[in-house]
Amino acid sequence: AAADPAAGAAVKATDRAHVFHSWSAQGLIDPLPIAGAEGAYFWDYDGNRYLDFSSQLVNTNIGHQHPKVVAAIQEQAAKLCTIAPGFAVDVRSEAARMVAERTPGDLDKIFFTNGGAEAVENAVRMARLHTGRAKVLSTYRSYHGATAAAINLTGDPRRWPSDTASAGVVHFWGPFLYRSAFHAENEQQECERALAHLEQTIAFEGPQSIAAIILETVPGTAGIMVPPAGYLAGVREICDRHGIVFILDEVMAGFGRTGKWFAAEHFGVTPDLLTFAKGVNSGYVPLGGVAISAEIAATFDQRPYPGGLTYSGHPLACASAVATMNAMTEERIVENAAEIGEKVIGPALHELAGRHPSVGEVRGMGVFWALDLVKNKETREPLVPYNASGAANAPMAEFAAACKRGGLWPFVNMNRTHVVPACTITEAEAKEGLAALDEALTAADAHTV
Ligand code: PLP
Repeated sequence: AAADPAAGAAVKATDRAHVFHSWSAQGLIDPLPIAGAEGAYFWDYDGNRYLDFSSQLVNTNIGHQHPKVVAAIQEQAAKLCTIAPGFAVDVRSEAARMVAERTPGDLDKIFFTNGGAEAVENAVRMARLHTGRAKVLSTYRSYHGATAAAINLTGDPRRWPSDTASAGVVHFWGPFLYRSAFHAENEQQECERALAHLEQTIAFEGPQSIAAIILETVPGTAGIMVPPAGYLAGVREICDRHGIVFILDEVMAGFGRTGKWFAAEHFGVTPDLLTFAKGVNSGYVPLGGVAISAEIAATFDQRPYPGGLTYSGHPLACASAVATMNAMTEERIVENAAEIGEKVIGPALHELAGRHPSVGEVRGMGVFWALDLVKNKETREPLVPYNASGAANAPMAEFAAACKRGGLWPFVNMNRTHVVPACTITEAEAKEGLAALDEALTAADAHTV
């Protein structure tokens, strides 16, 4: 589309007058007005096009404006825009059936929500009611959403200002060899010590008081730490031994991101509850949900489930989910994510790490990768301190600005950049983005010592 800076300026002026933005000091932000998007790209009103290596908030797994999904939303809008959750409706039934077909094990009943945080809220409620216990364990270095229980379960600084109602939430350390909380020297040690630490946390909290353990199958925003072999199976065994509900949060890792429909498949583990959102329909219409095991679903066979949402299983959202899952299957989008990660992105990132002094570690799988940026590879000191802002965060801000100058929209969090493009990304697009990343990393290198 032709550039139209005046239109962009008008959009921004009205935004600044009336839109209150997430996570921001309202007087300090400068949101970029967006004119459009397609596939792996989006563009502004000034004629700048960006290759989206963030998938927005790691949700546009099928890229922007997938024609089959756009058409499905249009068709559903013409047919039935909305209906209350208590009715049975074709697209809701089919979306639930298709999600259940793709989730592992006996997770065959689906409670739909409008997004990830609500999925976590409801999973925790189900676990508490099912067990009659109150406490929930989650890890430091995690993100589970911004509503009451979800933000308290979160293990990053976004929790701190809202941490007043965290009754019953206990944090522990998950496995993360590069920055091991256990002084481990290899993945096997990290796995064993992380499991021993969890056992000890449970013993001291009181196993009879713990309703659930919630983990991101592969922690996302916190740094894409692929768990070592055996860790999730170990947590599963601990949960079974103590009658604790095992919740896997696949809001970010699910629906193709790791190169499988769900990341749990990589580890051969079935949780009791699995939360999803984002990639279920790439966020074209807000949608999330909880996939529920037969045993937990049975708890609510005769006893009412005390939770609901006006828009649970919204027809437009469900129609877009059905079309998304069909498109992902027909176009081999999950397979593409696996292949491009293994053959193109993974090797290229390791090659970048070899040349750039600022790249301390490369981790990930599929289209779910993190570069841990450091001041010094020997000491592993992060390029910016934990939770840095302002001047202390300048090296990361400079790196992000360099990406954008190169036409690449990065995902940046603390001292990391994540390479999380659409699962549909082509080899040529991936290479274009990796070249821009290579260039931008020289800005980070300038801060190494
Ligand atoms: N859980 C995980 C693992 C997430 O990554 C997110 C969002 O980034 C959420 C939950 C919250 O989802 P939402 O923002 O849709 O409420």
